[in-house]
Amino acid sequence: MSTIPSLADLHALGPAQQPTYPDRAKVDAAVDRLRTMPPLVFAGECDELKDKIAAVTRGEAFILQGGDCAETFAGVTADNVRNKLRVLLQMAVVLTYAASVPVVKLGRIAGQYAKPRSSDNETRNGVTLPAYRGDAVNGYEFTEASRVPDPQRLVDVYNSSAATLNLVRAFVTGGYADLRQVHTWNTDFVKTSPFGQQYEAMAHEIERALTFMKAIGADPDEFHRVDFHSSHEALVLEYEHALTRIDSRTQLPYDVSGHFVWIGERTRQLDNAHVELLSHIQNPIGVKLGPTTSADDALALAAKLNPTNEAGRLTFITRFGAGKIRDGLPSLIEKVTAEGLQVAWICDPMHGNTFEASSGYKTRRFDDVIDEVQGFFDVHRALGTWPGGLHVELTGDDVTECVGGGEELTDMDLSARYESVCDPRLNRVQSLELAFLVADMLRS
Ligand code: PEP
Ligand code: MN
Repeated sequence: MSTIPSLADLHALGPAQQPTYPDRAKVDAAVDRLRTMPPLVFAGECDELKDKIAAVTRGEAFILQGGDCAETFAGVTADNVRNKLRVLLQMAVVLTYAASVPVVKLGRIAGQYAKPRSSDNETRNGVTLPAYRGDAVNGYEFTEASRVPDPQRLVDVYNSSAATLNLVRAFVTGGYADLRQVHTWNTDFVKTSPFGQQYEAMAHEIERALTFMKAIGADPDEFHRVDFHSSHEALVLEYEHALTRIDSRTQLPYDVSGHFVWIGERTRQLDNAHVELLSHIQNPIGVKLGPTTSADDALALAAKLNPTNEAGRLTFITRFGAGKIRDGLPSLIEKVTAEGLQVAWICDPMHGNTFEASSGYKTRRFDDVIDEVQGFFDVHRALGTWPGGLHVELTGDDVTECVGGGEELTDMDLSARYESVCDPRLNRVQSLELAFLVADMLRS
């Protein structure tokens, strides 16, 4: 195992999407502080997750990865975390039943605080300021002072992630994730919403399966607790580097800021710092692949990030857009498969489908999201490969950020409760509808 590059080595590669900090001494102080902090996750947990994702590469498990586009420090409240977790668990039950394989549950949570931006600046009413890059970097408030990158925020990311993970761990092991309870929430959804009723048949089937298990006296541990893992985009090098540690058990480096980290569409250049850093860690990792990705790009990324072709190590998260996936995805899968590469393929049906509504809000159409997932399933089915999962931006709250769905949210509804500080998320109801619709795709 080659040694981990230093932060200076990484910066020498000219990394994209990094904050321009005004005071380097303060950055060094924050990084020094972070280096002393305990790990947020354990290397052994990352290994367990890698084994689970290895099952996805074999077609024996399905991934559900979801959460906010951008977590915020203000969003670290018990209600917010619980609602997000609840909707993910509800979706996971439906998907598990439909797929008849384990669903690997991954939150975009406890670390998802840094955002790549398409423009360095933002202009409002003739005033231009640096873009908001996530709470990890600067403040959302549109003032000059708030938009200055502050390295102390990296320490705040650590503390917010620790608080979130602590609560998540308590929820998933402390009875909250009880399977019957989660199913009751789903039957409530089906009963109480007019458009939920079309999913009644499946909810009823799940009910019968649970009743059968109870009747025969089966009550495994798995009914009362779930495995849940954290994930985020590894973007700010200072943070990810400071949390990259040598595991005392194996003597190998892990990024202990989260179980799974991914490289975004804007930072996946082969010879750049993000690919370099993540090539040295042992965690399971992902790479976002957008519509400009060539099959050779995918092969080169796999060669650099997973040279031993270890199953579970590498997940390709495709985000083509509903209109492009059917044409763009097949050649990537064909070449990667022909090379015998072990990768999990998962579909991000969000980032290729963003547009600005006439009301000025950034939004996504629920139908486009469904159409991209359908395209993803169609392509994999045609090629005989496994559509391994979903990567979605969602919240457990009743926000109005994406249009469409059974509630038929329109452009005019967006202003009612638009709370995302970055990309539009599926709300609670849209997320559950997505799960039921994908369940149908898994079964057909
Ligand atoms: C994201 O996941 O929020 C994101 C920025 O995605 P991408 O890198 O695919 O654009
Ligand atoms: Mn996003």
